[in-house]
Amino acid sequence: MGSLNTFSKLVAVTLLTLSHSSFATVGEAASEAIGFSYPNGARYAISLSFDDARSSQVDVGLPILDKHGVKGTFYINPQFAKERLAGWKAAVKNGHELGNHTSSHLCTGNFEWLRKDNLGLEQVDLAWLKRDIESTTQFMKQQLEVTPRSFAYPCGNTFVGRGVEVQSYVPLVAELFKTGRTWLDETGNNPTYTDFAQLAGNRMDGMSFSEIKEMLDLLKEENKWIILAGHDVGEKGLYTVDKEALNALIVYLKDPKNGYWLATVDEVATYIEKHR
Ligand SMILES: [Zn+2]
Repeated sequence: MGSLNTFSKLVAVTLLTLSHSSFATVGEAASEAIGFSYPNGARYAISLSFDDARSSQVDVGLPILDKHGVKGTFYINPQFAKERLAGWKAAVKNGHELGNHTSSHLCTGNFEWLRKDNLGLEQVDLAWLKRDIESTTQFMKQQLEVTPRSFAYPCGNTFVGRGVEVQSYVPLVAELFKTGRTWLDETGNNPTYTDFAQLAGNRMDGMSFSEIKEMLDLLKEENKWIILAGHDVGEKGLYTVDKEALNALIVYLKDPKNGYWLATVDEVATYIEKHR
C-alpha cells in the first residue's frame, strides 16, 4: 500500500508539473503575441496583394503604388500576365513581389465560369495541381525572370477531391513556396500562431477607404499581420479595388502614427519567421 501511495503521489506531482509547464508555454506564447513588434517599432504589419495579374493592376494599380514608393504582392496567372508582359517586367524591376496563382485558376466546380474542360477541384488530384502550379513557375522564370516564393490559392480553395477522398493541397504549397494566401478570411494573421502555408487574406475589393479602415481597426489587435487582397483596380466594384480608396489607404498606412509596417508578403513572412 505504501509503495502504491508513493506511486500515486509521484503521478500526481508529475501531472501537476506537466500541466504547469504546458500552461507556462501557452502563457508565454500569448504574452509574446502581445509584445511582438515589427521594424521601426510598428505594431502591425500589412501587405497589399492583388490576384490574377489583371491588366488594370498594371495600368491603374502599380502607378498608385509607385507614386507612394510602396511595394505590393501580385499573384500571377500567365494568361492575364501575357497582356501586359512589359508592365510586369517593370514591376519586378521596381521591387514589387510576383507570386504564383496557378495556370488553370481551378476552383470548386460550383463556380461555373471557372471550370476547365468540365473539371473543378473536386475532379482533379494533387499530381494534376502540381503540374498546373509548376507551369506558372516556369512561365514566370522564362518570361519575367523571377522565381516565385509566394502563392495565392484561387478562390481561397485549398483542396482537391470530394468526400472521403478530399486531400488538402496546403502541404504541396508548403513544399513549393514560402507562403500561401487564402481569401475572404475573418481574421488577420497572428505572428505567433499563423501558418505561412495558409495565410489569411481579407477582401479590399468594392470598399471605400472608411470601410477598409473600419475593417483594419477590427482585425489589427495582437500585433496582427493583415493581408488585403483585391482583383481589378479602378472604379469600385465587386472584384475591383477602388483607386481613390487605395490611394487614401496607402497615405494612411504610411503615416507612422498609425503603427503599420507596409511590406510585401514575402518580406513580412521572412521577418516574422526570424523573430517569432
Ligand atoms: Zn484569382
